[in-house]
Amino acid sequence: MFINSRNFGNYGADIYLDLGMEFEEITADEAKDILDEMHTRGYVHQALYMFDAGAGLFVMCNCDDDVCSCVKGVRLTGTGIGKGPEICNQDPAKCLGIEKCGKCLERCPFGVNKADGDTVIFDQSKCMRCELCVTTCEGGARQPEIREDYEYEHIMSKVLLLAGKYGYERMVPYER
Ligand code: SF4
Ligand code: SF4
Repeated sequence: MFINSRNFGNYGADIYLDLGMEFEEITADEAKDILDEMHTRGYVHQALYMFDAGAGLFVMCNCDDDVCSCVKGVRLTGTGIGKGPEICNQDPAKCLGIEKCGKCLERCPFGVNKADGDTVIFDQSKCMRCELCVTTCEGGARQPEIREDYEYEHIMSKVLLLAGKYGYERMVPYER
C-alpha cells in the first residue's frame, strides 16, 4: 500500500506504512525527550530532507556512529552529510587537556579532534556541529555559533532550524 505524503502529511511515516510496519504518533515534547535521550547516549541527530523536491524535512534519525554508514562515510571521506547551520568553536584557554578530560576525543563521531601529547587539536573545518562534545566538555571550552557557510538555506531556513536561539523567534508547536 502506498500512501502519498501530500495526502497523509506525515512524510517519513509513509515508508513505515508502505513496508507494513507500524508507527506511533508522539507530541513535540515527547520528540524532544527522545532527542535528549539519544544525545546523552552519543547518537548524532540527522535531519533528512527531500533534496530532489527542493524542500521538506523527511525524517529525523539518531545515528549510532558504529552503525550509520552516513556518519562513517563522513569520517572516512569528509562527505555524505550536509553540515548544519551551526559550527562549534573551541577556547584553548579553557581546555583542561587530555589527561584531565579528553572527552571530546571519544565523543566526536566525526574524528574532528586529534591528540597531540596532552593537547587537543580541533579541526574546525571538519566540525559538523552535532553538539556531542559541547555538552560533555569538562572545561566548557566548546561552544556553538552560527555557521557562516551554511549551504542549505534554500531547503531549510536556519531561522527555522535555530528557532529560539541567537535572537530568532521561538517556534510554537504545531497542534493537530
Ligand atoms: S572535552 Fe573540552 S576540556 Fe575536555 S579535552 Fe576536549 S576541549 Fe578540552
Ligand atoms: S560538535 Fe564536537 S562532536 Fe560534533 S562534530 Fe563538532 S567537534 Fe565533533
